[in-house]
Amino acid sequence: MRSPYFTHSHAAFREQVRSFLATEVLPHAPSWEGERGLPRTVWKLLGEQGYLGLLHPRSVDGGERDLFTSLVFLEELGRTGFGGLRAAISVHAYMATHYLAAVGGPELRRDYLASAVRGERVAALAITEPGAGADLSRLATTAEPDGDHFVVRGTKSMVSNGMAADFHVVAIRTAPGTDSGPRGATGLSLLVIDSDLPGVTVAPTPTLGWHSAGAATVGYEDVRVPADRLIGRANSGFYYLMRGLQLERLVAATLALGGTERCLDDTRRFLTERRLFGGALSEKQAPSHRIADLATELAAARQLVHHAAWLYEQGELPATECSMAKLYTTELECKMADASLQLQGAHGYLDSSDAARAYRDARAATIAAGPSEVMRDLIGRSVLKPQAGPGSSHLGSGDTI
Ligand SMILES: Cc1cc2nc3c(=O)[nH]c(=O)nc-3n(C[C@H](O)[C@H](O)[C@H](O)COP(=O)(O)OP(=O)(O)OC[C@H]3O[C@@H](n4cnc5c(N)ncnc54)[C@H](O)[C@@H]3O)c2cc1C
Repeated sequence: MRSPYFTHSHAAFREQVRSFLATEVLPHAPSWEGERGLPRTVWKLLGEQGYLGLLHPRSVDGGERDLFTSLVFLEELGRTGFGGLRAAISVHAYMATHYLAAVGGPELRRDYLASAVRGERVAALAITEPGAGADLSRLATTAEPDGDHFVVRGTKSMVSNGMAADFHVVAIRTAPGTDSGPRGATGLSLLVIDSDLPGVTVAPTPTLGWHSAGAATVGYEDVRVPADRLIGRANSGFYYLMRGLQLERLVAATLALGGTERCLDDTRRFLTERRLFGGALSEKQAPSHRIADLATELAAARQLVHHAAWLYEQGELPATECSMAKLYTTELECKMADASLQLQGAHGYLDSSDAARAYRDARAATIAAGPSEVMRDLIGRSVLKPQAGPGSSHLGSGDTI
């Protein structure tokens, strides 16, 4: 189908990604779920294919491709139906390493970013803490200057890739904040911390879904980190995060789009194959209307995501549209997964079924990268601002993740 956003070369790239995922990834994905992580070999393979650096500059072996190439990759990743797999790869390629590419100095880019793009090192993004999630002003992990080092103390939770990561991009407090919250959102910085430094501890965090993302709780106890691992300027972390989170939401939305498509395909197959009361289940009006509603919402979601991506590609920071895309697609994925499980009856409820995994995995996406309530807050504020609305970016110090 013709599209204002995707060209023939995007279509060819989609075929290439789909075939790679079908042969190199999908046959092994169930065992990675059990192992709670991806093996090193697959990171290397993804790096060799260029999939870990599609947006990153050529100077670090990235592809420097347009954003819609990444959208194709992410949608196909979502279509695998493995939420943990998609989280692991996207956190590495679009979330943690984004900050190195956007504001990291030449040495950090040459060392950490280039090796991550090649799949030689695995990256994680560590923002959330046991006492601070959506409200960044409560972040309490500190980095105290000590000569040419920082001494880092604190705990990060829900770190996707935490069990596998060679380095973490960590949001830390380098100065007391001056604005709202007990500690304030100012005074935050981003620091690269190697996971093998003395004082770093990593413990697995069992989660309902996203199993192959290998979530961990990471402790930093008097960890001495060279000062040149600071990403960008000190105390500018909040500003960097607010910009980076727009890409993160767009990525989350695209993955959810792919996940919804996969779930719809699986459900359609079941409905057409399942025979009862003298015909195919798909011939009954109740499932047919339910699928019609979901397919319509999916078509609308696709336009929302692609429009937000197009604005982003124009160099705007479409905060409202990115929040709308994230909110709408991740909630739609939950709705789709719920319908899919219901419509497949006991088959869907089996622990080992694709429908059950989709149901578990979909629940993560309305929380991670900013809960739906926060998305609604941001959208509501933007829409209700005088002379504002969708199309006018909203980034303010009251923003949350
Ligand atoms: C599967 C998974 C993977 C994750 N991976 C990472 C990762 O790799 N790195 C990382 O740093 N973090 C990660 N997170 C953490 C995620 O970013 C946080 O869960 C999220 O920011 C919310 O923080 P919280 O869970 O502490 O909830 P809280 O901030 O305590 O909020 C609890 C609940 O309160 C509600 N709420 C929050 N704010 C508002 C508001 N303004 N108005 C009304 N209601 C509100 C929401 O329902 C929210 O779920 C992950 C989370 C999940 C579930």
